[in-house]
Amino acid sequence: MPVDELKKACPYCKESIHADAKKCRHCGEFLEKRSKVERAVKKAIGYLGIATAILSLFYGLREGYYFIKAHSEKRQALAHRACAGSVSRRFS
Ligand SMILES: [Zn+2]
Repeated sequence: MPVDELKKACPYCKESIHADAKKCRHCGEFLEKRSKVERAVKKAIGYLGIATAILSLFYGLREGYYFIKAHSEKRQALAHRACAGSVSRRFS
């Protein structure tokens, strides 16, 4: 029955209540626990997304940093070689 799909048993009194019910109409208990867990899971997924974004940004920056570092080291090495070359030329 399609109607039964929208129903669930109250965890407190086991009466059939609406699946989306926030409060049981039979015993008056609030059924926020499941939605709290869902909210926590959603929040965790959100944090995971933020963490992933930060990590990818961090790794992107790190890659950029190493690229620039390698580039400048190469330039420095070239400059050093040029300097050494001029010094050796001066002393020969
Ligand atoms: Zn109930």
